[in-house]
Amino acid sequence: MPAIGIDLGTTNSCVAVFRNGRVEIIANDRGHRITPSFVSFVDNERLVGEAAKLDATENHENTLYQIKRLIGRTYDDPTVQADMKLWGFTVINDDNKPKIPVVHSCGGNIFCPEQISAMVLEEMKNAAEAFLGETVTDAVITVPAYFNDSQRRATHDAGEIAGLNVIGMINEPTAAAVAYGLDREIKNQRDVLIVDLGGGTFDVTIVKIEGRKFYVRATGGDTHLGGEDFDNILVEYFVSEFKQQHGEDISDNKRALNRLRVACEAAKTNLSSSTQAKVRLEALQGGHDFCSSISRSKFENLNHNVFERVLDTVKNTLSDSGLKKENIDDVVLVGGSTRIPKIREMLGKYFDSIKIKRTINPDEAVAYGAAAYAFALGSDEDSALKEFALEDVIPLSIGIGRRGGTMSFAIPRNTKIPTKVCENRLTVVDNQKRVTFKIYEGERTLARDNHFLGKFTLSGIPPAPRRKGKIKVHLEINACGILHASAFEEITGNSSGITIARDKGGLSESEIKRMVQEAEKFRKKDQELKRRSTARNALEDYAYSVKKEVDHKNLTTPKRICIMSSVTEILEWLDINKKEPPEMAELEARKIELEQLVE
Ligand code: ADP
Ligand code: MG
Repeated sequence: MPAIGIDLGTTNSCVAVFRNGRVEIIANDRGHRITPSFVSFVDNERLVGEAAKLDATENHENTLYQIKRLIGRTYDDPTVQADMKLWGFTVINDDNKPKIPVVHSCGGNIFCPEQISAMVLEEMKNAAEAFLGETVTDAVITVPAYFNDSQRRATHDAGEIAGLNVIGMINEPTAAAVAYGLDREIKNQRDVLIVDLGGGTFDVTIVKIEGRKFYVRATGGDTHLGGEDFDNILVEYFVSEFKQQHGEDISDNKRALNRLRVACEAAKTNLSSSTQAKVRLEALQGGHDFCSSISRSKFENLNHNVFERVLDTVKNTLSDSGLKKENIDDVVLVGGSTRIPKIREMLGKYFDSIKIKRTINPDEAVAYGAAAYAFALGSDEDSALKEFALEDVIPLSIGIGRRGGTMSFAIPRNTKIPTKVCENRLTVVDNQKRVTFKIYEGERTLARDNHFLGKFTLSGIPPAPRRKGKIKVHLEINACGILHASAFEEITGNSSGITIARDKGGLSESEIKRMVQEAEKFRKKDQELKRRSTARNALEDYAYSVKKEVDHKNLTTPKRICIMSSVTEILEWLDINKKEPPEMAELEARKIELEQLVE
């Protein structure tokens, strides 16, 4: 059974498989190699991908997108609070977890981000199964290099809900480096800097490539910087333009905002090839048509600060790696937003434009690398990817909170994974019975300024004077970048531990189980709907073919009238039930009735 690689993007997703010695990108049922990460709920149906994206302006409350900006975050996260205001759908607070209510007749109307991402993953799985002609369960899912522990864990959970066996996770820019390395068949060592600027996230990774060996030297990024931010800046600009033109504010009109956002994305994309782009929207609000335009230089000017952030992150990552810009052999651009001329120009100016490489497809490189990694994980020595090796790093330092509020850095950022460390701790008061460990992720001196991952308590420490009780704390990060923390007391052997995200905001085992069942319910419903619409089409085809043939048959007049009236009745009935296919039994019964009449 082949293992697939899925690039689960904020904006678009892509799936690939390695077979017959090479990677193949798998097209969806519309023949497209990338699928929008959109899910929409219409009447009785659930749509995923292009069909859902087309629904975004008309059915904005029930069309969900950019879910990757929610996954693994808490409701009170400032980025969640800011993004919510811009989306057409609603986000509610459930015990500080963001959840999305939608109007749908098939149970489970309040979804968590993991469930929605699972629907996108399942769509990619289905495309792969159709392409390969067999069941697929093993998959590698990609994550932005700069995703933190809870975001990774939540993505892993989404895979599980989608019915996938997540055999590994790979950082997106690392996957792109793999694609680049395999494509170029690099023999001698090269230091490659990957810039991955997509719709929602930005990653920079420096990878040393030697043949089929990939060693990540450093990684940096911003989990909230990408094409959607450029779109938002354009939306803001045109909202004020509309105000100027018509004296009306559209910022509370979600439908108008959604229509404007779609037009802004198109304008932005046009500006990558033209120097001027138009925005035209009929009856945007209060019957006013909106017509405006923007030049490339105005667009660059509006986005100046965010573009600067891109270059700053590149510089910081470079300094983390200990390399100078002169040491970088190639700069590889991936992600749709690297098509923006200004971004290319800035990078070209900084590094030397000759180093900017565009030999790999920016939309497909991540899935390509993920597929190669999936294959390498599952196959034996004789594989076409002989000697493949991959070493990644953690993006943020991991530490334990100290008394007094500072953070003790246990694993510094850019440490190779998998990794394991052990810290020795002493009790701090006489006869201390228990100790609570708080684990954080980040670079700040004060623990509370970092991202709190979770806590656990070790109890049953035997009585001892202060500083005599000895405790060992183990921190372990697996190849997927997921952290497990534990502690044990040396004399009694008592121990306690956590896999971080399970305790903090993440889903519990029972919640995942329930969601897997819910996903199964959706799957069954979708299949049933598909069966019914196939049967409906078959009946319609049959009715038309009978209608056509009646004239050629030597029939008595009463029989002809009888058949024709039955055909008309069936066609009318199908027309009335256009929105949702009728029940299977009814469809079958009507077909049999007509067949008997014709005999
Ligand atoms: P993600 O990995 O986040 O799903 P992608 O790599 O697919 O994202 O990139 C999607 C983003 O790239 C969107 O914001 C889209 O508007 C932007 N994009 C795609 N093509 C262009 C282009 N020609 N010019 C500017 N931006 C583009
Ligand atoms: Mg991407």
